[in-house]
Amino acid sequence: MSYHLETKCVQGGYTPGNGEPRQIPIVQSTTFKYATSEDMGKLFDLEASGYFYTRLQNPTNDFVAAKIAELEGGTAAMLTSSGQAANFFALFNIASCGDHIVSSSSIYGGTFNLISVTMAKMGVDVTFVSPDASEEELEKAFRPNTKCVFGETIANPALTVLDIERFAAAAHAHGVPLIVDNTFATPVNCRPFEWGADIVTHSTTKYMDGHGAAVGGAIVDSGAFDWMAHAEKFPGLCTPDESYHGITYAEKFGREGAFITKCTAQLMRDFGSTQSPQNAFYLNLGLESLHVRMARHCENGQAVAEFLAGHPKVASVSYCGLPGDKYYDIARKYLPNGSCGVVSFELRGGREAAAAFMKELKLAAIETHVADARTCCLNPATSTHRQMTDEQLLQAGIPAGLVRMSCGLESARDLIADIAQALDAVR
Ligand SMILES: *Cc1c(COP(=O)(O)O)cnc(C)c1O
Repeated sequence: MSYHLETKCVQGGYTPGNGEPRQIPIVQSTTFKYATSEDMGKLFDLEASGYFYTRLQNPTNDFVAAKIAELEGGTAAMLTSSGQAANFFALFNIASCGDHIVSSSSIYGGTFNLISVTMAKMGVDVTFVSPDASEEELEKAFRPNTKCVFGETIANPALTVLDIERFAAAAHAHGVPLIVDNTFATPVNCRPFEWGADIVTHSTTKYMDGHGAAVGGAIVDSGAFDWMAHAEKFPGLCTPDESYHGITYAEKFGREGAFITKCTAQLMRDFGSTQSPQNAFYLNLGLESLHVRMARHCENGQAVAEFLAGHPKVASVSYCGLPGDKYYDIARKYLPNGSCGVVSFELRGGREAAAAFMKELKLAAIETHVADARTCCLNPATSTHRQMTDEQLLQAGIPAGLVRMSCGLESARDLIADIAQALDAVR
């Protein structure tokens, strides 16, 4: 039986049998016991499924990953220790030394650094394209050694919205998958697989956990991409893995399972960025209310954006739920039920005005975090981007007076009253 998304949030991934725990149990064990060497040997050969060491797999993590796979409409998923690990593994699973990635330029700073600096050192080249790139610009970015296209549904912090269908079509025309980081939208507001994306990643640290409690990440496979049809591009999936008993993942596990099995058996084994079962348990508590919380985050984001848009001390507001926003139309297509609770706005008066405004806020705390129950804000010019001059900031599309506000689950009236009194205090 197929349930609606709300039901999957609450009960997906785990169905206890008679007398078993109602809540997902935390299997706090590094290792698992077997009676014979033959039994264990089958696990190592991937002949039988089961657990032997938590660095590779753990039942708690697998229950929670299965829930996320259901929410996204995918065939397989895995948890990672962080969103950074999720994006690294998703990319490195198919792109290694000598390969090339096409990525949207409007992505999370940590991911931008991962791709442009750290993966470059590993021999992976990248071409960044604007999320608004024309067909020709997008087409020009591809090379014979391109292995995937990457973008974010709603980019952090720029709040651009990716035209998933268009990016998927371009990727598929070149025989490569589209990987979408769906952190800000969550599967409640957008399921990228329905628009042609092949792999989805998450920083579960954000809305999925939703309480600022646990850092984590997830990778989900749609099961739709035909690796074998492009076998020459993906030798890691389509030729025997000598480090794993000569298994050819795409043959043995098919479209549905190859990507996640390789990522677990090979990359988790070697890099070991697994999520702790305790954190997976916290993540699941967040997932149980994700559908309820996202609606409120969006409601509060919309109310705050509308208030800011009408305020004389505010130069501009970015929020795709505002008519007139550059991404309003595309958001109506991909995010018909709302986008997220993060609103960016520029104060008149630059970084001094932003600092004065934020100092006066009572409810919104100054944090580098976003996307949890408590409202928080950040002025990139005086924090994450403080090494940049005003001129460099403008070039990067981040005006000195920009404030990123992540609207939590408080009363929108209280949030607006707090913002109003803080704006009043700015001269
Ligand atoms: C925060 C974030 C990440 C990185 O996730 P961590 O859990 O902090 O490692 C990646 N992508 C997006 C869109 C994010 O917001």
